[in-house]
Amino acid sequence: SLKLSHKVRSLKPSSTVAVAARALELKRQGVDVISLAAGEPDFDTPEHVRRAALEAIEAGRTRYTQVQGIPELREAISSKLARENGLSYAPEQITVTNGGKQALFNAFLALLDPGDEVIIPAPFWVSYPEIVSFAGGVPVFVETRAENGYALDPEAVRAAVSERTVAIVLNSPSNPTGVVYPEEVVRAVAELAAERGLLVVSDEIYEHIIYDARHVSAARFAPDNVLVVNGASKAYAMTGWRLGYAAGPRPLINAMNALQGQSTSNASSVSQWAAIAALEDSREFIAMAVGQFRARRDRIVAGLNALGLATPTPEGAFYVMADTRSLHQDELKAAQLLLDQARIAAVPGTDFHAPGRVRLSYATSMAQIDEALARIGKLVGVQV
Ligand code: PLP
Repeated sequence: SLKLSHKVRSLKPSSTVAVAARALELKRQGVDVISLAAGEPDFDTPEHVRRAALEAIEAGRTRYTQVQGIPELREAISSKLARENGLSYAPEQITVTNGGKQALFNAFLALLDPGDEVIIPAPFWVSYPEIVSFAGGVPVFVETRAENGYALDPEAVRAAVSERTVAIVLNSPSNPTGVVYPEEVVRAVAELAAERGLLVVSDEIYEHIIYDARHVSAARFAPDNVLVVNGASKAYAMTGWRLGYAAGPRPLINAMNALQGQSTSNASSVSQWAAIAALEDSREFIAMAVGQFRARRDRIVAGLNALGLATPTPEGAFYVMADTRSLHQDELKAAQLLLDQARIAAVPGTDFHAPGRVRLSYATSMAQIDEALARIGKLVGVQV
């Protein structure tokens, strides 16, 4: 039979994708499944962004661009980072990628030699350890706990640093926990990185989807030791456009550009022009989206707690972590129960180090959230 590489055979298919596939299969069979598994806003891409894309197509902006992104977009990103994050990056320190995911892929491929360690706070987005391992590195987890609001202790991060440590991942607001790290934690981790010559990979893709907290970039405190990763997917409802970016130290950005030049080349030219419009003029859209996410968050958190599934109130992103041990001790079984008996697709915490919990996304309509709560109510025998 056909030979496949060790590298690719050790890649785990994403559990999010697996649940989504099973839910789609049930849907195909005519079962009305409510999907609370997805990691994408349910809104349409804002109108002014769609218009910018159409104009780009009409103007013939449909050819290869510079690998690292068109200068106009890198200028717009540079302005955005200054205006919204208080960061100072020249356009040459910015690379534009096919989604934030490619920025992470490029970064870890550029950084890691076999055996190099990357510290990842848990629970984590499942792609971090997969990408790190694929790049030859070794993920090292720092566990955080629901009982403490998933607070990250910088001293625990320090204790995890070894001779082989190269990078530390910070993802705030976090997928899946919704935790937003306070300024003193972000600062302490950034200063630790500077002190030990490490790189903080700061995934800020959910920065705008935030409720009662304030987002602070680690790059504020140690600009030479931070790679800021961000993108258009979550803030501007542009998941399908595949547009991400990273800003950081020049040698790293140059290495990432070299990698991208031999793999995908530039991100879609049309998406790049659309992203300029998104970055420059989306305050109204973001306010609308966050307002809706907040109302949905409040509804789903109150509903799940009333049903005996203890669920902390997240400060950011659009996921909740429900304690499903009253359904089943094993979260995989609990997720299966939810799918088979309540027709709700959600992601078991197994793969992201959240035992006893299932991640539910509330990036869906209030009507769907209410229906999901009613179905869970039936399953556990409680009226909402
Ligand atoms: N980072 C986190 C934490 C995410 O949840 C996602 C998407 O699910 C991404 C990065 C990558 O998103 P994209 O590749 O669409 O920019």
